[in-house]
Amino acid sequence: MMSKRINSRRRAIKQIAGGATLLATSGILAGTTRRPEGKLGVALVGLGNYATRQLGPALRETQYCALRGIVTGTPAKAKEWQAEYHLAPAHTYNYEHFDQLADDPTIDIVYIVLPNFMHAEYTIRALAAGKHVICEKPMGMNAGECEQMIRAAQQHNRLLQIGYRLFYEPHHLALQQAAQQAPTGGIRMIEASLGFNMARPGMWRIDKAKGGGGALMDLGPYTIQAARRAVGQNPVSVSAQGYKDDPVLYKDIYGTYAWQLHFADGTVCNSTTSFSAYVDRFYVARSNDYLALEPAYAANADLALRTRAGVEQLSTPNYQQASQMDAFALNIKDQTPVVASGQEGLIDLQIIDAIKQSLEQGGATIEIAY
Ligand code: NAD
Repeated sequence: MMSKRINSRRRAIKQIAGGATLLATSGILAGTTRRPEGKLGVALVGLGNYATRQLGPALRETQYCALRGIVTGTPAKAKEWQAEYHLAPAHTYNYEHFDQLADDPTIDIVYIVLPNFMHAEYTIRALAAGKHVICEKPMGMNAGECEQMIRAAQQHNRLLQIGYRLFYEPHHLALQQAAQQAPTGGIRMIEASLGFNMARPGMWRIDKAKGGGGALMDLGPYTIQAARRAVGQNPVSVSAQGYKDDPVLYKDIYGTYAWQLHFADGTVCNSTTSFSAYVDRFYVARSNDYLALEPAYAANADLALRTRAGVEQLSTPNYQQASQMDAFALNIKDQTPVVASGQEGLIDLQIIDAIKQSLEQGGATIEIAY
């Protein structure tokens, strides 16, 4: 199973059907020629689904950083990870001893992979411990928390990245570049939607106090940032609608969220995120052509960029997160700006806050406060 996937992902750039190659070399590919000495040490905080299925395996493929520590409240998990990744028990922490990371020189980067309501607290504590931090999406529960996190990074002179793996994904980068070229007329309309049938009783993602708002908080950042980055601007206002197909499961949140991002030039992006239905697409409509990714956001999918000229696939790593973490390690080593920065995470939460405000006001159009 694994070797089949590796083979399919490691193919060379492949042009399936005619048309000029839109896929110019991206920044992450240019970065692969560099060989700084020594890998930076990463500690994963929260050994749940994402850490186990994606980040741990991705850290076997990274060139500039490696897994050196873990933070978990479950002793059995600690043992499993120590064996699986050959980690010394001295670099295993629990939540009570989290701040002792400050005294561990083998850890350079702390990666927060906890439920959303814990992002701000643990990011700020890791920064105070003198570590660079990657924090998973959504950056915080609201824009105010994101601002506190950015301030903490500045105060402690550490770098902060948000776990936006698609900022480093070649098909997304190629789409953004093509979108800006506008050879046949500018962008008029975008459809960006993501949904999975994933809501289960008791899960933190559907608990408003822990997840912050179901599929809007969990999946909204992907569609919002894809739209922002394709248009090359931030939306000025938003209107939103919420739907419940299961009032028992979805108490104080919606199962499906829909919204429209309005851009200053008249472009509109229509998005739906759902915990009840499967959808994974990004479609940029211009005057006379389109740019499309479907699937668009899934971590395990083989992406391809579709246009009227044909379909193109780029060589990608087995794990998108390897590119994301290596880019951050190079930012630290070279003291260069982080692309998936705290500022980017903040903008997405400012937009999400406005979406929530629109929902509270019956779908009214809300100007976004940046
Ligand atoms: P999960 O529920 O599988 O894992 C969460 C982990 O946090 C568990 O190990 C749990 O034990 C631990 N934890 C510690 N204290 C907890 C508490 N008080 N309550 C609940 N859990 C606690 O979730 P996940 O799917 O791994 O998601 C974790 C984070 O990663 C989320 O913020 C999510 O948005 C993000 N994520 C990002 C991507 C991506 O592609 N970038 C994909 C999946 C998840």
